[in-house]
Amino acid sequence: MDKPRVRFAPSPTGALHIGGVRTALYDYLIAKQQGGAFVLRIEDTDQTRYVPGAEDYIKEALEWVGLVPDEGPGYGGAYGPYRQSERKAIYKEYGEKLIASGNAYYAFDTPEELTAAREASKAAGNHSFKYGAANRAKMRNSTSLPQAEVEQLLADKTPYVIRLKVPTDQTISFDDKIKGVVSFSSNELDDKVMMKADGMPTYHLANVVDDRLMKINLVIRGDEWLSSTPHHVLLYRAFGWGDEMPVFAHLPLILKPSGKGKLSKRDGAKFGFPVFPLSWKGATPEDSFDGFKDFGFDPAAVVNFLAFLGWNPGTEQEIFTLQGLVDAFSLEKVGKSGARFDFEKAKWFNQQYLIAADNGVLAKMVRPLIEKKGHNLSQVFLEKFCGLMKERVMLLPEFWEKGYYFFEAVKEYEGKPIRKKWKPERRAKFETLRESIKAIDNFEADTIETVVKAFVEESELGFGAVLPILRIGVSGTMKGPSIYEIIALVGKEETDTRLATAFDAFDEMKAAV
Ligand code: GLU
Repeated sequence: MDKPRVRFAPSPTGALHIGGVRTALYDYLIAKQQGGAFVLRIEDTDQTRYVPGAEDYIKEALEWVGLVPDEGPGYGGAYGPYRQSERKAIYKEYGEKLIASGNAYYAFDTPEELTAAREASKAAGNHSFKYGAANRAKMRNSTSLPQAEVEQLLADKTPYVIRLKVPTDQTISFDDKIKGVVSFSSNELDDKVMMKADGMPTYHLANVVDDRLMKINLVIRGDEWLSSTPHHVLLYRAFGWGDEMPVFAHLPLILKPSGKGKLSKRDGAKFGFPVFPLSWKGATPEDSFDGFKDFGFDPAAVVNFLAFLGWNPGTEQEIFTLQGLVDAFSLEKVGKSGARFDFEKAKWFNQQYLIAADNGVLAKMVRPLIEKKGHNLSQVFLEKFCGLMKERVMLLPEFWEKGYYFFEAVKEYEGKPIRKKWKPERRAKFETLRESIKAIDNFEADTIETVVKAFVEESELGFGAVLPILRIGVSGTMKGPSIYEIIALVGKEETDTRLATAFDAFDEMKAAV
């Protein structure tokens, strides 16, 4: 094959579903791997579904994950315009070509007539009315009406659509790169509308014409378009391009976490995870969503996660940079069956990126979160904090949620260990521990550790009696990094204040039991 020219062809009807980002990713990987071009085409011919802002959203989302198109609206390229609404004249010309070659016809049926035909078919026991070879002659179109009448209707500017004249008794086969050979009987297909009454093309016509004119030679898209492909094949044939069709590759569906059914945009709200890359503010709260970015994902982790929704390298390796994916990716290793969306796995990928990230970089990412809470700390402090916490968080906001105590007083003490371990009669002993910590000159983790260990021995209390008290006193929780590191970072004065407050609180907690 020549160098691949692949396109991502979203319709700007709202936020970009994460499945769309996966399609764009696979497009990008193939294009970059083989020195081809990744084209963005905006399919905005359906004016009723057009949503302002959606195109910008699509571009921002692609750029956020690092998939910058080589060609597209705003990106340049030799085959523009790349917005279908700016190519109306082209589609009109190709619609007329179909008529002229006898591969399409004018249909004048009104919506009422179409409804009546459907009802009549239902009454006769046939529930799936198809406007096609079986019914064509009964409808009002240029194949059924006398030519003079057709001409009159056209002269009177009677609204019409142009329909593809699907031939009978043909087998339409194509070798899908992922599904293998797929065959349809033309008798199953309807005479799809190519040009609508408003003079706009339908998706089918515009998509095929543009793929041809933009020299697209590999069409990667979601499984839901597989059933449209036989019509597209017929269109290629009708235009005389049947021997030069692009290769098709239909990607497996992305399924709900349960594995049952397609992942929908509503599922995000339902299950509490993002299904969009960036936040989307629709007209209503129900149509407004947080994206992966808002959940605190690193875009590189999102890309890595998406790559694995349907593909795997055939090895144990799971962590890939975008360039690593470019090198390793192949459509041959994309599965045929649906890929289950597993949010826990998405978080796991993000965690791997956090762990691998440089603390300096993380500190810069975390700073705005901490500042939003009213704390302004040095880069050195934040770097240490990130280094201690990064193995314990999966998403960025958790740095605050799980580590707020590095910045401000404990909000709540974990009750169970305190009720079990705190003995008011030992308070005096713990006060001496507090004094010894306060007396440390070199306030570093290992010095603090030495002092605490000495106390454990001298007091004969044992680690099990001392450490939970110290840990919960300073951080409120049993979970977290080394308590000596926490104390060192929290600082001497603050540790002292916290322990004093905590011992009082522990006495009260005990008294309340
Ligand atoms: N405009 C279609 C969509 O929104 C494009 C489908 C295709 O790639 O052919 O997904």
